[in-house]
Amino acid sequence: PRLVDSSADGEDQAVEAALRPKDLEEFVGQEKVREQLDLVLRAARARGATADHVLLSGAPGLGKTTLSMIIAAEMGAPIRITSGPAIQHAGDLAAILSSLQEGEVLFLDEIHRMSRPAEEMLYMAMEDFRVDVIVGKGPGATAIPLELPPFTLVGATTRAGLLPPPLRDRFGFTGHMEFYEPSELERVIHRSARLLDVEIGADGAAEIAGRSRGTPRIANRLLRRVRDYAQVKTDGGIIDKDVANAALKVYEVDPRGLDRLDRAVLGALLKLFGGGPVGLSTLAVAVGEERETVEEVAEPFLVREGLLARTPRGRVATPAAWAHLGLVPPQQGSG
Ligand code: ATP
Repeated sequence: PRLVDSSADGEDQAVEAALRPKDLEEFVGQEKVREQLDLVLRAARARGATADHVLLSGAPGLGKTTLSMIIAAEMGAPIRITSGPAIQHAGDLAAILSSLQEGEVLFLDEIHRMSRPAEEMLYMAMEDFRVDVIVGKGPGATAIPLELPPFTLVGATTRAGLLPPPLRDRFGFTGHMEFYEPSELERVIHRSARLLDVEIGADGAAEIAGRSRGTPRIANRLLRRVRDYAQVKTDGGIIDKDVANAALKVYEVDPRGLDRLDRAVLGALLKLFGGGPVGLSTLAVAVGEERETVEEVAEPFLVREGLLARTPRGRVATPAAWAHLGLVPPQQGSG
């Protein structure tokens, strides 16, 4: 998998538990969501009530799972973690819901990928803390109502707009997670370095932060790869700007966080097609990748960075793309 992929790989999962902030205080950035959530949780605590259902939307790796664990910790409640794709039948959901304790937090990742019947069961569970368990099949089937203890559902989704409105409306609070500023990622990196017992300078952290695509998970992963480099090449010396730079050069993550694939796509668009417009299929063939890889893996970040635009006539490079690859656009070059 790519170093700059924002979803978790096996190694991430193993170390993430150790790197997760444990309370709202420790959670870096996301000031808005933190402030809002702090109010929701404090008020619920003061009332001695279970917190309202919370929906968290945002790209992978921004801290939705971490926040759900913090919600449980702040409420002094246990947490159960599952995901939409893991719940294929309404019965799967009924089993989970009926085993919840009072006040428990149920974290449902990728909630937009739940099956329809499960989704409908969830509506009732969220609103009335009740589910109808269907027993039997066909004309003899009966619905047995089952009372649930009050619980807090924390749903996570990449985009709140993907949720059917009836589901969205049943959340008491929606927090939108934004990409992190480089200065915030620097704080994440310093914090992780401390926990991993890695020595890093301010300039080293800044160097890694700038390449982390606004995503703490990527920042933590790059930090680990830079640590490997430092361990082998500098005998465990402090990570400064030069060490970070040299390490990330080896891993082909450039100063803006583009990797080999991103640069190949951008390079082909500029060098072979004069900056476009060019069709997606042609571009994909030129870099020897599948259409889907170019469209879903490389392009989103290039678009977000303002390096590439998707137009009705095809893919077009922006002036920033030429500058980033150190090339001169043809209009100016052929003067
Ligand atoms: P996914 O949607 O892919 O499950 P996620 O949004 O749930 O991702 P998390 O698993 O919560 O992301 O976070 C990924 C990693 O980034 C964790 O190791 C966590 O420690 C770190 N992290 C996320 N947000 C923060 C933050 N605000 N401060 C410090 N570390 C953070």
